[in-house]
Amino acid sequence: MSGAAIIDGKAFAETLRGKVAKIAASFEQAAGRKAGLAVVLVGEDPASQVYVRSKGKQTVACGMESFQFLLPTETTQDELLHLVRRLNDDPAVDGILVQLPLPSHLDEQEVVEAIDPNKDVDGLTPVSTGRLALGLPGLVPCTPLGCLMLLADRFRDRPGSLSGLDAVVIGRSILVGKPMAQLLIKESCTVTIAHSRTKDLAQVVRRADIIVAAVGRTEMVKADWVKPGATVIDVGINRLPPAEGEAKGRLVGDVDFAGVSAVAGAITPVPGGVGPMTIAVLLRNTVVAAHRNEGLTLAEGAI
Ligand code: NDP
Repeated sequence: MSGAAIIDGKAFAETLRGKVAKIAASFEQAAGRKAGLAVVLVGEDPASQVYVRSKGKQTVACGMESFQFLLPTETTQDELLHLVRRLNDDPAVDGILVQLPLPSHLDEQEVVEAIDPNKDVDGLTPVSTGRLALGLPGLVPCTPLGCLMLLADRFRDRPGSLSGLDAVVIGRSILVGKPMAQLLIKESCTVTIAHSRTKDLAQVVRRADIIVAAVGRTEMVKADWVKPGATVIDVGINRLPPAEGEAKGRLVGDVDFAGVSAVAGAITPVPGGVGPMTIAVLLRNTVVAAHRNEGLTLAEGAI
């Protein structure tokens, strides 16, 4: 029997999508058009295609316009850059997301840098990452912002919220680990970033009040790494090999859920924790970008 509170990312994401839908409706009234999100996928990976279609459906369900570009694997760098520039210039498009990773013949960094920072709903351009590092408002990567929302909710009754807590982020990717650490610093946490070269990782993790695991290693974080009562956010999505009779293996996180939930104070499950937050925050970022792009004000903290 688990001792930890389960942080229900699925329910939280649904509430967030409800708020986005309301704000998208008032945007449409004010701007005379719907907010628009363009998603670009290069390659025929079926799982990515399902994911992109699901993004499209959720965008439409929130009352926004969805533009999808499913391009063949052979797409050239020039063709992709041309599309990004066309979307930059299209006033119906408020947010542009290029699904990563791109096929290896394409230069990912050049493509990301071509995105207009005002439409950078994935928060990956140098302008967005720079603004985050400077503590300035801007578009923040969806997964870490989703994690922060879950943490802020978990600590909403604590005086000072997250301030002064020890946080350990395992993973230093541009997409998750680094922006997560920046967001936690902004909340006045004391932040340690761990990675594959960290010495005695278990010892480092053990001092944390907040653990964010973004590694991509099946159930790596064990119960004896976790301080009793700590809050554990599991970003990892790893598929186990299929058990007998299963078509696909089960999804698990970077945290040994069964063991850690007996020790932690609160924990996100996989699936149903961080995953659903990522798309909900993408929609949130799109409606925020739409307001900025039209010069409309959105009250601070409205969403
Ligand atoms: P990356 O592979 O880009 O980064 C992984 C990080 O983990 C690196 O910084 C790496 O260190 C570190 N790492 C690898 N092995 C170890 C180890 N043994 N001990 C400590 N650190 C280690 O992955 P992402 O950040 O993109 O994604 C991380 C996980 O989150 C994946 O499972 C991914 O599927 C999932 N994910 C989930 C999302 C969601 O919506 N829920 C969204 C995005 C990602 P180093 O830098 O030294 O190599």
